[in-house]
Amino acid sequence: MLKEFYAYLDKLLAYSRSIALLHFDMSTTAPKDSYPTIAKTISVLSGELFSLKVSDEMKKYLDYLEKEYSELDDIAKRTYEVCKKEYDMYTKIPKDEFVKQKEVAALGQSKWKEARDKEDFSIFAPVLEELIEYSKKFAGYLGFSESPYTWLIQQYDEDFSLTEVEEYFEVIKSQLVPVVEKVLKADKVITNVLDKEIDLSKNKEVANFIMEYLKYDLNKGLLSESTHPFSINMGCDDVRITTRYEKFIPSLYSVMHETGHALYEQNPMDSLRNTILSGGSSMSIHESQSRFLENYLGRSKSFINKLYPVIMEKFSEEFVGLTEESFYREVNSVNAGFIRVDADELTYSIHVLIRFEIEKLILSGKVKVNDLPKLWADKYEEYLGIRPTTLKEGVLQDVHWSSGMFGYFPSYSIGTAISAQLYKTISKEFDVQKAVDNDEVEKVLNWLKENIHQYGSLLKPKALVKQATGEEFNPKYYIEYLSKKYGELYGVEL
Ligand code: ZN
Repeated sequence: MLKEFYAYLDKLLAYSRSIALLHFDMSTTAPKDSYPTIAKTISVLSGELFSLKVSDEMKKYLDYLEKEYSELDDIAKRTYEVCKKEYDMYTKIPKDEFVKQKEVAALGQSKWKEARDKEDFSIFAPVLEELIEYSKKFAGYLGFSESPYTWLIQQYDEDFSLTEVEEYFEVIKSQLVPVVEKVLKADKVITNVLDKEIDLSKNKEVANFIMEYLKYDLNKGLLSESTHPFSINMGCDDVRITTRYEKFIPSLYSVMHETGHALYEQNPMDSLRNTILSGGSSMSIHESQSRFLENYLGRSKSFINKLYPVIMEKFSEEFVGLTEESFYREVNSVNAGFIRVDADELTYSIHVLIRFEIEKLILSGKVKVNDLPKLWADKYEEYLGIRPTTLKEGVLQDVHWSSGMFGYFPSYSIGTAISAQLYKTISKEFDVQKAVDNDEVEKVLNWLKENIHQYGSLLKPKALVKQATGEEFNPKYYIEYLSKKYGELYGVEL
């Protein structure tokens, strides 16, 4: 029976991989006029996948596994839990509404893109409104009509309640915001050699160096271009990433970030390969891997020491006067900026805090869609003292809402805080920077593989953090890390 169950799950995987491939195509190379057809195809396939998840056959397997639960191995137990959870969820949502939402969500991205290009919020507002209504409705079917945001957050991080996420952002607000304010006021001259218009086509070669250096298996992956960088997978043997070549530093750091996601997806233990447990445990754990490579490794002195010569080999004419030290300082310079994905390490979580506060207001119905551009600008003024003047710099910069992904943002910040805890734990075993200095970056990557990647989603996020670090998730390591690094860099007492 178990064998038949796994064979049945292969069908589910085939559908979800096909849907992922269509999403990838739509975000990268598909011609513009194909979007409605692709969106329709995605919604039809999503409907088929929905049916497989709630079918009588699925029910038969779940009943059997429930009876045999104590006899099952860990993989079968967790597979049962994941499928049962989805079964319970999808049996409460009407299929026709689910399918329609998928179509609206798939098309949303093209509306977002058009609104962004034309600087016209009214192109995107109706679809955003519709997606918010769907989210509220679905949350209501599942008993979360009082707090749809709780349900949405748990779609990405099943272990976290809204209260826990609120507590986390209280820490950010009370402990990180003052640090950011102090650093922004600190008078430190940092050269701006890198921030200029140059031909970025050579960046592709630097991107190749980064992916190879970080052991991203390009026989099982590739780098493409999209409006908003992302990673997506069709199983662990086909894990793709994208970046955008708009600005020099962000285009490269997006490659590091997405490579972090890719490594997580490429490296489950053998027994999890090609199963529904092959992928990451939750989005915050996923972000802990991407943010680890992007920041804790990518913005360190040791890594800059490896990257700097590669950049100078390609861009010596463009970046005259750039030294290794000034490069290090520039990728770690703190600025009140508008764009989250371009943000420095210190202000990053402020961008997420702003989104968290706005999403809470959206889902509680306290703000109207048409008021979002102003609310967004107000929040940036409140927390970072700057006011976006374009929608591209403001409310339309992120792709997430256009596909109905409300509740995803907190995982970026919580994930970054988890990376700090992982970094602290690794550092008890060996010196991460020395390992990079000695050309032993594998030591660091193997630690992540052994302690995080190999488990796929076999363990729930909190249990995984506890097992890897020996304690519960604790954001204090994140605040400590940032205060130490930026106190030193900016010569301020934090
Ligand atoms: Zn990410």
